[in-house]
Amino acid sequence: MYINGEWIQSSRRFPVFNPANGEQIGEVVDGDRGDASRAIAAAKAASPAWSTQTAYERSMLLYSAHQLMIDRRPQLAELMTREQGKPLKAALNEVKYAADFLLWFAEEAKRVYGQTIPSSRSDQRFLVQKHPVGVVAAITPWNYPISMLTRKLAPALAAGCTIVLKPAEATPLCAIAVFEILHEAGFPPGVANLVTTCDPAPIGEEFCTNVAVRKLTFTGSTAVGKKLAQAAAPQLKRVSMELGGHAPFIVFDDADPVHAAKGVALVKFLNSGQACISPNRIFVQRSILTPFLETLQERIRKLKVGDGMDAANSIGPLINQTAVDKVDRQVSDALAMGATLHAGGQPLTDGGLDRGFFYAPTLLSNVSAQMLIYREETFGPVAAVIAFDDEDEVLAMANDTAYGLAAYVYTQNLSRAMRAFEGLQFGIIGINDINPTSAAAPFGGMNESGLGREGAREGIEEYLETKLGGFSI
Ligand code: ADP
Repeated sequence: MYINGEWIQSSRRFPVFNPANGEQIGEVVDGDRGDASRAIAAAKAASPAWSTQTAYERSMLLYSAHQLMIDRRPQLAELMTREQGKPLKAALNEVKYAADFLLWFAEEAKRVYGQTIPSSRSDQRFLVQKHPVGVVAAITPWNYPISMLTRKLAPALAAGCTIVLKPAEATPLCAIAVFEILHEAGFPPGVANLVTTCDPAPIGEEFCTNVAVRKLTFTGSTAVGKKLAQAAAPQLKRVSMELGGHAPFIVFDDADPVHAAKGVALVKFLNSGQACISPNRIFVQRSILTPFLETLQERIRKLKVGDGMDAANSIGPLINQTAVDKVDRQVSDALAMGATLHAGGQPLTDGGLDRGFFYAPTLLSNVSAQMLIYREETFGPVAAVIAFDDEDEVLAMANDTAYGLAAYVYTQNLSRAMRAFEGLQFGIIGINDINPTSAAAPFGGMNESGLGREGAREGIEEYLETKLGGFSI
C-alpha cells in the first residue's frame, strides 16, 4: 500500500495469480478499513496545499508521470499480461491508452476556466470559479488494470483533488506499478494513496461513510455500483459510476457484411470479451445473415487461444473460474433454448490450458430475447447473433435493455446512420467504427450503465465544484 508518500508493508498479505497458468506471481498487502481511514486522513491533510498549487505545477507532475509510463511501457505491459491475461500486444496498447490520460489531463489542468456573467444590476458583477471537490475515493476494476486507474487519477489530480484508490483484488500489482510512477514523478505525500485488499466491502464502506471523502468514483459491475451509490447517498457524496453494458452491434443490409463481420471479430474478442463496451447482441439484417456468419465463423477459427505472453496467441484467459462458469452457463442456456452453435461453446482445457481459465471463442446464431445472454452481460468471448428485418424493429430491440453504454452501427446510408445515432439510447455510439474511445472523448453510459463521463473535457468537470461570486461594487 502507498499512504502519505510511503510504501506500507504488513504481514497480512494475499497472493496474486496468473490467470493463464495459475502460477503465483506476487503477494500484496491486505489492507483493511483502518488503512482506508488512514489513507483518507492523509489525503485530507494534503488537500489544502495541493488544491492551491498552480495548475501549471500540477500539470508538470502529470507530464512527468506520462513520460515515466511511456518509458516503462514494455515492462508494464508484460506485468499486465501476467497479472490480467490479455495478450502482450493488447497490453502494450492499454499502457499507451493509460498514458494518454496523464497527458490529456496534464493539458486540461491549465484549461479549468471560469466565467464572468453580466448582471441586470449596474452595481453587480458575477464571477464563476471552478474549485476541486476535495478528497476523492476511487475503486477500479481488473479488466483494464492500468488505464482505468489513470482515467480517474489524472483528472482528479489535475483538478487539484487528492485521492485514495482501491484497485481490484485480481490486479493489485499493476496498481502498485502505477503508484511507483506517481511517487517517482514527485507528487507530494498524501496527494495520491493506494490501499490494496482482497476484501473490498469494508474499504468500500469506509469510502462511502467517511465524511472527509467528497466524491466517489467507481468502475465495475452495475450491482456493486448501485450498492456504493446507495451507501454514499446519506452524505450526498458526488458519485461517478462507470458500470456494465450490453452493447448492441447492428449491421444493416447496405453495409458490407464481410467488413462488418471482420469488425465484430476484432472488437468482440478484444480482452476475451471482458470489456463493458463489448458487443453483447449482434443484430444482422436477414438478407446478409449468411455471408456475415460465414465470415465471422472463418475469423473465429483463426483465433489462437493461450497464454498472452506468446505472440502467436490473440486470445488470453478469462480472469477466473467464476467468469468461465458464467460464460458457460449463458452458452448452455442459449443452446437449450434453440440457439445454433457455429464455433466454440466450451471451456478449453487441452494442451495445458486447464491450468488457466480459457473459454473457446464462440459464435451463436438464432439468439432470442428469452435467453440469458440476450439480457445479462456476458464478459466473455461469445458472439451472439440475432436476425432482424427492419430499422424500427432493430432500434427498438437494441434499446430494450436496462444498460446504455456502447452501441455500434454498420451502414453506408448516411440518413440511417444519423437516425440510428439519434435513436439509440447509449452514451457511446460507433458508426462503422469499432473503437469509439480516446482520452480526448467522453466515455460513459446512460441508464443502468452509470453516471458521469470520463476522459475528454467532461472528465475533469467530475472533480470540480462551481462557485459563484456576486460582487456589489
Ligand atoms: P467484477 O464482477 O467485474 O469483478 P466488481 O464490481 O465486483 O466487478 O468489481 C469492481 C471493483 O469493485 C473491484 O475493485 C472490486 O474489488 C470492487 N468491489 C466489489 N465489491 C465491492 C464492495 N462491496 N464494496 C466496494 N468495492 C467492491
